[in-house]
Amino acid sequence: MTRTRCDSYYAASIVEESDYPRLEGEHRVDVAIVGGGFTGVATAVELAERGYRVAVVEARKIGWGASGRNGGQVTGSLSGQDAMAKQMPRTLGDAAGEFVWNLRWRGHRIIRERVEKYAIPCDLKHGHLQAAYKPGHLMALRKDFEESQRHAIGEHVHWLDAGAVRRVVGTELYHGAIRNDYNMHLHPLNLCLGEARAAVSMGAEIFEHSPVARIEHGERPAVIGEHGRVTADSVILAGNAYHRLERRTLGGRLFPAALGIVTTAPLSAELAAEIDPDDLAVYDTRFVLDYYRLTADRRLLFGGGANYSGRDSHDIGAELRPRLEHTFPQLAGIDIDFQWQGMAGIVINRIPQLGKLSDNVYYAQGYSGHGIATSHIVGEIIANAVAGSLEEFDAFANVKHLRIPFNDRLGNSLLAAGMWYYQLLERLR
Ligand SMILES: Cc1cc2nc3c(=O)[nH]c(=O)nc-3n(C[C@H](O)[C@H](O)[C@H](O)COP(=O)(O)OP(=O)(O)OC[C@H]3O[C@@H](n4cnc5c(N)ncnc54)[C@H](O)[C@@H]3O)c2cc1C
Repeated sequence: MTRTRCDSYYAASIVEESDYPRLEGEHRVDVAIVGGGFTGVATAVELAERGYRVAVVEARKIGWGASGRNGGQVTGSLSGQDAMAKQMPRTLGDAAGEFVWNLRWRGHRIIRERVEKYAIPCDLKHGHLQAAYKPGHLMALRKDFEESQRHAIGEHVHWLDAGAVRRVVGTELYHGAIRNDYNMHLHPLNLCLGEARAAVSMGAEIFEHSPVARIEHGERPAVIGEHGRVTADSVILAGNAYHRLERRTLGGRLFPAALGIVTTAPLSAELAAEIDPDDLAVYDTRFVLDYYRLTADRRLLFGGGANYSGRDSHDIGAELRPRLEHTFPQLAGIDIDFQWQGMAGIVINRIPQLGKLSDNVYYAQGYSGHGIATSHIVGEIIANAVAGSLEEFDAFANVKHLRIPFNDRLGNSLLAAGMWYYQLLERLR
């Protein structure tokens, strides 16, 4: 049997594997979507719910990319929120501040309602900690906490001092934290597969193992595969960091970063209760952060660091073990059962990139490592745009993005240098 997914904990704990046909022959739909990650699948659900005929064309398997490999943390950390607050008034005027704040939480509602409506088994749990890694990080964290108290979300958000943090996470590392019980964590691959089933139950077509070679633009655009094509009224390109389509417009805008994750052997009930008694997902306040949580079968799923070279890392386990054991010395020497990596799409100003490649061909990409909630928001925004309501879409499409006019490898080297600079600044804080 050919290996169709990376050897992740998620792939090993799929509830219902997908098995959709290859794209063959001619198909005609209202909207054709390239890419079967959260962006593609969440948009397909939105559109199918509104009665559109949709086809999703995926190069490998549903959830094969970042969506089926990530940390599973659904948080209000929209990437680029400060940059958005500066740029969006251009389109939204005074409403921009409230728009950006609400964006941070809108994806949570979509995911929660969808999991309930379509009974998707994805181990969804509430509870998250953002923990201050250095005393110098406390002030910004406290500011974020105070902002939360001025909004309805405030009742779910609590400030923990260093002593209180130690009662909910078994490490001495942190100097304070925000506990947010509105945030969630879940099994992202099972969510993505469940959403794909929901789309199909409403008439959507899905094709797997069907790489799209090119998009044909025109009054009736089409996505062209090796053995078939889908003609549509609109096309949405949702390939994120994994595709090479439309380089003339999209080249130099998005940079792939390889992020690694490990999963330990299952912990005893006592050890799990010692390190994470409230079953919270956790990440720290660094620019390139560590993030972790317990899985449903009590493994520690731990991610951290990033490789901006655009190439794969060699030994994720060896890279992450020291970080894991530094956080939890009580886990020294624990077996690592799974290790894998995935490509996230990094944007220089960290604002998600939404735009049009021609009148009826849209693209959405670049959530800079915070894409579970964001991709679901984007699905809603693009479905609204296809239906003719463009205001929110335009708020993103009108954002100015820096384009690095070099090939991707050189672009990634520049990005790596930039990230190194930010991390250096952070060390000085
Ligand atoms: C290791 C890791 C940890 C992360 N942790 C978190 C986290 O805890 N919380 C969070 O919010 N975000 C996290 N993220 C980010 C999040 O996973 C992504 O932002 C999100 O999944 C992006 O979804 P997407 O659908 O846009 O892209 P992807 O999921 O990458 O999907 C793109 C799909 O397009 C397909 N494709 C590409 N080219 C073609 C083509 N030519 N034809 C057809 N199909 C094509 C690919 O095969 C792929 O399936 C993490 C990312 C990584 C890599």
